Amino acid sequence: MKQDMLSEHFSRNELACKCGCNRIGGYPINLKRLLSCLERMTEFAGTKPVITSAYRCAEHNAEVGGVKNSYHCRDMAADLYIPGINLNQIARLARKSGFTGIGKYVQKGFVHCDIGPPRSWTE
Ligand SMILES: [Zn+2]
Ligand SMILES: [Zn+2]
Repeated sequence: MKQDMLSEHFSRNELACKCGCNRIGGYPINLKRLLSCLERMTEFAGTKPVITSAYRCAEHNAEVGGVKNSYHCRDMAADLYIPGINLNQIARLARKSGFTGIGKYVQKGFVHCDIGPPRSWTE
C-alpha cells in the first residue's frame, strides 16, 4: 500500500477536504467505518466510486451550503458516483455496503452516503 492510502482503494487525498486545507476530520473510528463501507461498495460494484466530497472543514461546509454539523464534518459521509452505474443502483449498493443515510442528488449526479441514522431522500 502506498503511504497516502487509508485503505486498499482510497487515499487520504480522496477523503480530505476539497477547500485546499487538505484536512481530514480526526475521527478515526468514524473514518474506519466510512472506509469499510466504501471498500465493500467497491467490491460489490466491481469498480471504485469517485468521491466528490468526503471530509469538509466547517468553513468549506458552510461555503457549499452544507447543513450545520453535517456528517461530512465528522468523517461520516461521502458524496460519490460510479461511472456507468445509475443513481438508483448506486443507492442500493450503498445500502448493501452498510451506509445508513443515503440521499440521491439527481441534478448534481451524485449520491450522498453516510453512516448516521437510517434515512433516505431524493433531491
Ligand atoms: Zn477545508
Ligand atoms: Zn453529502
